[in-house]
Formats: sequence, C-alpha cells, structure tokens
Amino acid sequence: MLSRIKVFTRGREVLEEITHRVNDVIRRSGVEDGVCYLYVPHTTAGIIINENADPSVARDILDRLEALVPNKGSYQHLEGNAPAHIKSTLTGLSLTVPIDEGRLALGQWQGVFLCEFDGPRDRTIVVQVLPARSGGTGEPPE
Ligand code: ZN
Repeated sequence: MLSRIKVFTRGREVLEEITHRVNDVIRRSGVEDGVCYLYVPHTTAGIIINENADPSVARDILDRLEALVPNKGSYQHLEGNAPAHIKSTLTGLSLTVPIDEGRLALGQWQGVFLCEFDGPRDRTIVVQVLPARSGGTGEPPE
C-alpha cells in the first residue's frame, strides 16, 4: 500500500511535523498491526523522529546542524546548496516505525518531522504501510 504525502515547506530550513498525516495514511490502509516505512525522495531534505511537545527542540536541532554545516562556507557544489545536501545526509532519508492499534507506535513526546534544508518548496514523503500478518499464524515463534 504505497501512498505519497505532499508537504509545502514554509521556510528555507524548517522541520514540518507530519505525524498526523502519516497516521491518516495508516488509518486509510486499515492496517492495525504492522510496519510503516517512510522515505523522502529528495537530496536536500530529510526525515527524523524527535520531540514534538516543545518547538524549541526543533529550533535547536536546526541551529546545531547549521553550526556543523554553515550555509556561509566554502563548498565545491556550484548550485550553492551544498550545506542542504550535507544536512540531508546527516538526518537521513528514511524511517521504519512499528504500527500498533492502527497508528505509529511513537513515544508520548515523539513526532515525525520532514526536515527541509533548501525550501520553501513542495516535498513528497513516500509511505509504505506493511501489514504484519500476511501469511504465518501471527503467533510469536517458540
Ligand atoms: Zn544541489
């Protein structure tokens, strides 16, 4: 069950929380128990799970990535967005999250964020919802 979530990112560097969008995809799939695979098909974006309660956490993450890979630096890539490519590599492009009772089995303070490093622009998150019990008995092995 492949789906795509479309997000318009609202800034040059921003973390857009997409947890509810992913849970909507899972709900529509009807899968109660399984795995949700999330993939970002971009070279200057990423995807992470982190705290969604205090927005300053997202700000701190972006600030520290900027300290590691400053936008005003010397890079070979002529397009001018080398830092965005590097930050994408640091955050990664995919997540695998268990599905429990028809939703992401996240911790109380966790959310899924699309990481934009070269926005604003339209982004896509590819979502594959995999049921746990397609075959087998569903019973744990002895
Ligand atoms: Zn580039």
